[in-house]
Amino acid sequence: MTDGVFSESYRGRFAPSPSGPLHLGSLLAALASWADARAAGGVWLIRMEDLDPPREQAGADRLILDLLDAAGLHSDEPVLYQSTRQLAYAEALARLLQAGLAFECRCSRSDLAAAGGIHRGACVANDGKRRPAAIRLRVPDADIGFEDRVQGPYVQNLLRDVGDFVLRRADGPFAYQLAVVVDDAHQGITDVVRGSDLLDSTPRQVYLQQCLGLPRPRYAHVPILLGPDGQKLSKQNRAPAISSDQIAGLLPQVAGLLGQEPQQLAPLSAQLTSFARHWRMSTVPRQSAVVAPCTDIG
Ligand code: GLU
Repeated sequence: MTDGVFSESYRGRFAPSPSGPLHLGSLLAALASWADARAAGGVWLIRMEDLDPPREQAGADRLILDLLDAAGLHSDEPVLYQSTRQLAYAEALARLLQAGLAFECRCSRSDLAAAGGIHRGACVANDGKRRPAAIRLRVPDADIGFEDRVQGPYVQNLLRDVGDFVLRRADGPFAYQLAVVVDDAHQGITDVVRGSDLLDSTPRQVYLQQCLGLPRPRYAHVPILLGPDGQKLSKQNRAPAISSDQIAGLLPQVAGLLGQEPQQLAPLSAQLTSFARHWRMSTVPRQSAVVAPCTDIG
């Protein structure tokens, strides 16, 4: 794929979940999406994925936004909070139900255990159990593929690999897969740049776009950072929160992890301008990188 040849209408986004403060892994995803948008002369947005309050940390949205602000990464439009978008998700769900593409399901995890946790076609739950229903999307026995700007061609057979997936959980919240597709379309996103841990969610999103008649953005899945336990850096494996005075020192390292030319140390604003000017998606590595825990990466 060529670099930097985009229509003027490029619209990208960074979509953090407010489950904790920004750490090095999330800063890397934010910088990659920001630089790609800026290099294309496009618009860059921040969307707060606050769909699941029990998993969120009070005030984390503010911490994330303040840090991004201190990093010089400003949303070109007001930050969209997914908690304000329930009606849009409900409407999309109603359309899918009406079209017979989505269905109510009372199967529990243990009901699905024999099938490896995958729901394929008919529900196995005992109909007599009147527990609240989740809503799932019925998936086809078909290959759904797309060309990722970093990872190359990627194909999944949704029925074999994923099964009928949840759009709204039985306990109420809309699922990430539905919300992200509805909001990417709502915000006119043309380019999704995010961590490669979401690569295998993308065929589900592409299929949902087809079902809802929504456009498909281009995708670029950049490497994620792993702790020594092999897991994605997160609050759970003690990834340290970044403070605003660390950002300028971290930027050269982030550039290196993203396969970009190291920038001269300079004031943060100059570093950022140079980072965006030299941004090349074609040199971003495919592989995730392991970093030390609790590191003083600065
Ligand atoms: N909220 C997701 C995360 O924090 C990102 C979702 C997306 O970019 O589609 O990893």
